[in-house]
Amino acid sequence: MQTINANGYSVYFNENCQNYLSEILKPEAYSKIFILADSVTSEYCLPDFLANLATDVPLEIIEFESGEQFKNIETCYEIWSALTELGGDRKSIIINLGGGVVTDLGGFVASTFKRGIEYINVPTTLLAMVDASIGGKNGVDLGNLKNQIGTITTPKAVLISTGFLATLPQKQMRSGLAEMLKHGLIQDKGYWDTFKNLNGLNTDDLDALIHQSVEIKNNIVSQDPTENGIRKALNFGHTLGHAIESFFLENKPNEALLHGEAIAVGMILESYLSLEKGLISNEEYQEIKYIILDLFERVSFNSEDIKNIMDLLIHDKKNEFGKVQFALLNGIGNVKINQFSDNELIYKAFEDYKM
Ligand code: NAD
Ligand code: ZN
Repeated sequence: MQTINANGYSVYFNENCQNYLSEILKPEAYSKIFILADSVTSEYCLPDFLANLATDVPLEIIEFESGEQFKNIETCYEIWSALTELGGDRKSIIINLGGGVVTDLGGFVASTFKRGIEYINVPTTLLAMVDASIGGKNGVDLGNLKNQIGTITTPKAVLISTGFLATLPQKQMRSGLAEMLKHGLIQDKGYWDTFKNLNGLNTDDLDALIHQSVEIKNNIVSQDPTENGIRKALNFGHTLGHAIESFFLENKPNEALLHGEAIAVGMILESYLSLEKGLISNEEYQEIKYIILDLFERVSFNSEDIKNIMDLLIHDKKNEFGKVQFALLNGIGNVKINQFSDNELIYKAFEDYKM
């Protein structure tokens, strides 16, 4: 599959990944390689990754516990300390081998260690392949508030080997699918249409869809790396989605939703806002709701839950001057950014979601 050129780095696929690594990982270029993995990817992905890696640069492995609850500054502290103890210097490079938690946290650690060292993302979940590993946004959560601390620092490269998905649980695959649906909704109606019939999809099809999703995300990010304008389109579904994700993490940790599961709800709610603002037709809204609910089980919210979620919206990173911002659909395949909504409309969106 064709390499995609991003702003200042490239995204390589499958057979091109190992060639790229053996070309750049030379002792004259790097003092040490640190592979960062979580407890699950170190079991499922690291052995394969190491077996295919040819380099004379000394290598260390740093591992942390898997899970969003470890995407915090305490884990970073441990990793900065490990890097120091293991002789990391400004010529070290970090390879983040894992899902979005590893690429977000590892990117942040790399962008701050000794004021910034190089890093490469090797995403191993569908969500990280099509979304988290691309675009340079990194960071950690602050308590239950998602991604409050972080930087925008692009990786040296992103290496997507879709073979890693073989061990990924179905639920996690679906979580990644949510971001792919988003890419269609915000930018490419034809791409969205392919998800209307997922039956009979084989692995080659999936590889092609991943490639397309990366293209869409990269196309948007390249136009606006620091999110002053069009990059906000990627936040479709995420204003309410993040608040829902935070709410479950905080109040119902046992039922906590995966990122993509929360975003799936957020996309339906924000499509409703788009409908109410006359930006999409009722037919489009019903189609979006139908397709998403076909893939993602309906989540139940009582009125107390919704009130709590509304309170969480206030902390959204996307807020500017104290106002909650939305990126809403403007027809399927288009977005209108910098949109606002009355609370009343959001309550109505939840009511409609329940039906
Ligand atoms: P994750 O990293 O927690 O991975 C999900 C689970 O799958 C984890 O338990 C992980 O250990 C396991 N896993 C990873 N690869 C595996 C494999 N090949 N086989 C079996 N198990 C495997 O979560 P995620 O869904 O990949 O990413 C979610 C995170 O990404 C969130 O923190 C979100 O905020 C972040 N994110 C960031 C961006 C961005 O632009 N930076 C975009 C979207 C999401
Ligand atoms: Zn997302």
